Amino acid sequence: MKWLITLGLSVGLSMGLQAGASAMTVEEFDVYKQPGLDKPVISFEDIRPLIEQHRQNPLFAFTKLGSSLQGTPIYQIKMGRGDTKVFAWSQMHGDEPTATAAVFDLLKYISDDAQSEWRDSWMEHITLYIIPMVNPDGAVANTRVNAQGIDINRDALALQSPEGRILMDAAKRIQPHYGFNLHDQNRFHAAGDAKNPATISLLAPAYNEARDINESRKRAMQLIAYIKPLIDAEIPNHLGRYDDTYSIRSFGDTFSSMGISTVLVEAGGHRGDDNRQVPRRLNFLMYVKWLDAIASGSYRNADLADHDAIPFNQRGMKDVVLSNVTLTLHNQPALVDVAFELDVYGTSGQARIDDIGDLSIFGGYHTFDAEGLHYKPGKAFELTESVQLTVDRYLALLRDGYSHFTGDAELLDNQTELPVLLNPQRRVPAEQLVRQRSATFLLSNEQGVQYAVVNGQVINTQTAEVLYPFGT
Ligand SMILES: [Zn+2]
Repeated sequence: MKWLITLGLSVGLSMGLQAGASAMTVEEFDVYKQPGLDKPVISFEDIRPLIEQHRQNPLFAFTKLGSSLQGTPIYQIKMGRGDTKVFAWSQMHGDEPTATAAVFDLLKYISDDAQSEWRDSWMEHITLYIIPMVNPDGAVANTRVNAQGIDINRDALALQSPEGRILMDAAKRIQPHYGFNLHDQNRFHAAGDAKNPATISLLAPAYNEARDINESRKRAMQLIAYIKPLIDAEIPNHLGRYDDTYSIRSFGDTFSSMGISTVLVEAGGHRGDDNRQVPRRLNFLMYVKWLDAIASGSYRNADLADHDAIPFNQRGMKDVVLSNVTLTLHNQPALVDVAFELDVYGTSGQARIDDIGDLSIFGGYHTFDAEGLHYKPGKAFELTESVQLTVDRYLALLRDGYSHFTGDAELLDNQTELPVLLNPQRRVPAEQLVRQRSATFLLSNEQGVQYAVVNGQVINTQTAEVLYPFGT
């Protein structure tokens, strides 16, 4: 029996972002934010109507470059009339849709006649080519790989995927001066040691093992240095630099070796932002600013020291960190931090204990100081007759030491909005915390059970407050 969990999903765009000098405010951005794309999975059916709409616009020339293995069209959108050629492609990894949304925000912005002066200013100098959604088969399946199971971004040399061939053919035909390789990175990357997620990470990929800097790569690094103040102003301490180890099979590195000044953009996690709307907006802002800077050449004044000052990504984030839990085994009390990994994208439905011990070097999307609270294993409440689970009844059960239910799901009438764990698929930890087991247990003090951790969410057993629904 599959059980469900209520995650209080919400989007954190109302947070206090400080706009940079030339950046638009969140409210201004909302005017250009393409509706319908604020969701965790974006497939071709989501963008098909937008493609149909924009292809009516004489500003844009649409070309079908070919089809994915499963027959979904892959389009190129061309705009502008300048000699400088800029090429951008998104969602080569099917489960990385953030930049695709930002690309359609950009098209909406360009389409607005109120922006005609702005668009003319760069379209005179630049011809922009965009392939949104290189991997539609992976997008609809919500997988990184294509329908052959091939990671297209390791297929730049072998070219055995139709999608990889389409991308390489486009690059050889266009011969762009600049390339923008648009991805998402997983949410556990931190921006240096700041204990914050790397909401944006950038990289000028190497073109050889020695990671030399030639003129082409230097331009890509200058584009990154140029954009750093914008990101720093918008989301201080959330900008990271991706590892520049040469990856000979990857498109970014291969394009670099072809003399294309290539920038890798990785959209990452942000607190309170499940659907990555914060990096979506930043992607959009970067595209606008980069178009201006390439058209004017102004980025060529950027100092590489600013590029080098961006901290490298670190594997430094956890979904939830409970600190200072007292864990007593063999009469030896110890203070431990406990990290959980949540099932944010609903693939397994299971939050698991990820780490135990001194986790002080990690940042958490959610953190909770459990000082004065003791680990206590939760008991299973076996369903033998029907139970009307009201909030009061549920809290009473939690305070009585139960943390989850087992038995016939039909017997449980959950009348609460609280997280409830029924027939857990992972084992619930018993006398001690165990990694990989269900993040389900109790926290108690002399007055009894104060909090219940139910599938990674912390419920106050007095007030019914859920302390850490993901998204707050
Ligand atoms: Zn990727």
